[in-house]
Amino acid sequence: MTRPRILIVYTGGTIGMIEDPATKALKPFDFSHLMDNVPKVKMLDYEIDNIQFHPPIDSSDMDVRHWQMMARSIADNYDRYDGFVVLHGTDTMAYTASALSFMLGNLSKPVIITGSQLPIGEVRTDGEENLITALQIAAARDEDGSPVVREVAILFENYLWRGNRSTKRSADNFNAFKSNNYPELAKIGLGITYDRDALSKPAIGLPLEPHFDFDSSVISIDLFPGLKADILRHQLATPGIKGVVLRTYGAGNGPTQKWFIDAVREAVDRGVVIINVTQCVNGSVQPHRYMGADYLAAAGVVSGQDITFEAALTKMMYLFGLGLDHKEVTRLLGTPIAGEMTAN
Ligand code: ASP
Repeated sequence: MTRPRILIVYTGGTIGMIEDPATKALKPFDFSHLMDNVPKVKMLDYEIDNIQFHPPIDSSDMDVRHWQMMARSIADNYDRYDGFVVLHGTDTMAYTASALSFMLGNLSKPVIITGSQLPIGEVRTDGEENLITALQIAAARDEDGSPVVREVAILFENYLWRGNRSTKRSADNFNAFKSNNYPELAKIGLGITYDRDALSKPAIGLPLEPHFDFDSSVISIDLFPGLKADILRHQLATPGIKGVVLRTYGAGNGPTQKWFIDAVREAVDRGVVIINVTQCVNGSVQPHRYMGADYLAAAGVVSGQDITFEAALTKMMYLFGLGLDHKEVTRLLGTPIAGEMTAN
C-alpha cells in the first residue's frame, strides 16, 4: 500500500492556542506553532498537507461561512487524499461535525475532527495524543485498501464518536465528548479497537456530492415550568423564522394545556416547521407515550426521536438550505439521512 495521504484543516481552537502575555487569556495561534509542538507526527510515515483558517478562530465564533470553508477544503481535495483531519475548538465541535455530515453527500473517506482541552504547548496537553490518534484513524485502511472509517467522526481522548451523534459533555474532562444514544465507533487504549457494527458502511468510490448552502432562519425554544404564553407566542412569531427546535421534557412531552398546544399548532399552520427534541441527554422522543407528546404530534410537530440538539438544528438549516418546502423538510426531519437518528 502507498503511504497514506492526509489533509489537515486547521480552524483554531484551544489545541493551537497560546496565552496572551498581557491578558493571560488564551487566543488562537498559527498552525506552524502547533506542529512544532508535535515533532512525533514525523514518526508517522504519512504524507501530510494542511490548509489553515486565516486567522484561526475560537470555535465560539463558528458560523455557517466557516462550515462552508471546511466543506470546500475537503471537497476540493477529496480525490487527492485518503483522509481528512479537522482541528477545531471543542465548544462548537458537535455542531460542525453534524453540519459536515449533512454537507458531504456520498462521503466514503474519514473526516476526523479533533481538538483539545489544554493547548498543545502545555506540558500536560491532551492535544498531542488527540492529533496523532486522529491522524492514525484518518489513515486506517482495511486489507483491501478501503478506509476503515467512512464518515464524519469526533476523536477525543479514549473514544471515536459519530460526529452527528456527539455532544460536548465536559468543559474540563479530557473525555469531553459523548454520543448518548449511539455506541462509540472505536475505543482508544493500547490500540485502536473499532466497532465494525457501529461504523457506517457507505459504498466506496462514489463522487462526493457536497452541499454548501444553509438557511439559518431557525431558533430553539426550551420548555420550562413557568414558561409564559405570551412569550412563547412571541418566540414562535419571530419574524423570518422557518423552523424551531423545541426542547421538551422526558420522552418528548410538553404542557397539555390549551394555550400551549394552540400556540404550537398555529405556528405549524403558519408554515413554521417544528421538531421535538428531548432535553434529556439520553433516550428518545416517544410521540405517543404521554398525552403531552401526543398533542404535539397531533399539532404537526415532527418527532426528533433520539437526535441530538446539535444535529436537529444543523439538519434543519441544511434542509432549508436545499430550498425544500415545508412538507419535504418536515418529512426528511423525521427520517435518518446521515446516521443522525435511529430509524423508527
Ligand atoms: N473556546 C475553545 C474553542 O472552542 C475551547 C476549546 O477548544 O476547547 O475554540
